[in-house]
Amino acid sequence: MTTSTGRRKHDEDADVIVVGAGPAGSTAATYLARAGLDVLLLEKSVFPREKVCGDGLTPRGVKQLIDLGVDTREEAGWLHNRGLRVIGGGITLELDWPDLASFPPYGVVRPRQDFDELLARTAQRAGARMHEQTTVIGAVTDERTGRVVGVQGKTGPDRTPVTYRAPLVLACDGVSARLALSVGIDKQESRPMGVAVRRYYDSPRSKDDYLESHLELWDRSGPEPSLLPGYGWIFGMGDGTVNVGLGILSTSKAFGSTDYRALMRSWLDGTPEEWGFREHNAVGKIGGAALPMGFNRTPHYSPGLLLVGDAGGMVNPFNGEGIGYAMESARLAAECVVQALARPEGPARERALEGYQVALREALGSYFRLGNVFSKLIGKPLIMRAATKYGLPHARLMKLVLKLLAGLYDPRDGDAYDKMITTATRLAPSA
Ligand SMILES: Cc1cc2nc3c(=O)[nH]c(=O)nc-3n(C[C@H](O)[C@H](O)[C@H](O)COP(=O)(O)OP(=O)(O)OC[C@H]3O[C@@H](n4cnc5c(N)ncnc54)[C@H](O)[C@@H]3O)c2cc1C
Repeated sequence: MTTSTGRRKHDEDADVIVVGAGPAGSTAATYLARAGLDVLLLEKSVFPREKVCGDGLTPRGVKQLIDLGVDTREEAGWLHNRGLRVIGGGITLELDWPDLASFPPYGVVRPRQDFDELLARTAQRAGARMHEQTTVIGAVTDERTGRVVGVQGKTGPDRTPVTYRAPLVLACDGVSARLALSVGIDKQESRPMGVAVRRYYDSPRSKDDYLESHLELWDRSGPEPSLLPGYGWIFGMGDGTVNVGLGILSTSKAFGSTDYRALMRSWLDGTPEEWGFREHNAVGKIGGAALPMGFNRTPHYSPGLLLVGDAGGMVNPFNGEGIGYAMESARLAAECVVQALARPEGPARERALEGYQVALREALGSYFRLGNVFSKLIGKPLIMRAATKYGLPHARLMKLVLKLLAGLYDPRDGDAYDKMITTATRLAPSA
């Protein structure tokens, strides 16, 4: 017995359940609700809430905000930046974001405390029903078919047990990926991971037209100092504070044994006193989390369940950026779900849902595959050192590198660099 829309059965609570109201979940919920679906958005915390992050978006992420209809002007509370300042090997390079048809010419910075609430409210305004303080602990599966048909969790201050049912569930629960794990979808150890830590400081460097990245992070804990595969960042927040952090790839030998907080302190102790990155200027504690990269959790679709954003390992292995990719995958997931739910239950609907993995591979698969290779290469200290020493002095080469690392190239009618990157992604098989 189905409802009049034909989308769901009478014992179901929504057309779609979205678990997690981070950038992936709120973006998916917004698109789904705008398409007329009844969306239940379940979030374990209560807004406004913090999320450990660098708070920076390249133009690739800004495009997603614009597509969603978010006002990204400075008047609306976004701090714009015009490019990336790269520091390493004794050289400082200011690289403006490329001028492209596909992406805007500016990046933005905004604290996640504010950013995530803005997106969650956008989803609510679109019609999604958000239940905060609701932690999902696992999927409900159909005993006969194994298909995901809902979720179970705990809600409210008393953590009352709840079960919700829907024909489709989107796992947007971030790197913890509790929902995927509950149905046995583990991460692939062969794919890169990152770890990143960050802290806010009161600093005179709060207003900056560039996102700043420091390529030389030295591990001095062993007998010989070694250059780590990763970078430190300094992102001015425009409000008197700066978001400072560092991220390291899993491909180096030091991964796992590194004390990231100590590494950050030793890096910052070496920065000029007047920048203010000292204990007495610190705002809050050092926070850290893992970065799941290069599609490190698949399949992205299994019957009834779609993995979106960090839950599906969608962080860019080249640069650790994840917000834009979470939103991009959410949009693709929403498009497939809308198509699927307009079809009767059965093979036709499943074909539309399988289309999510195809769309992801088309949009990001080859690019992430190149990124996975890149992360393995720079995991070797010699290669990392050579890249910093010989790459940085070549401004033209660095323009190409910026396009590649930030995924900022026009796939059609671009310049010579865009064509080189597009060809490379065509040749590489999908991750
Ligand atoms: C230190 C650090 C710095 C970073 N800097 C940047 C940066 O500058 N730019 C950038 O683009 N990316 C950055 N990233 C990556 C970025 O933070 C993530 O890729 C991005 O947040 C992924 O979005 P998401 O919606 O998939 O997951 P999340 O943002 O993690 O959202 C998941 C949501 O699900 C909720 N949730 C989790 N479990 C459950 C559950 N069981 N039940 C209900 N709700 C649940 C959470 O509360 C959260 O609201 C950084 C990451 C780290 C760790």
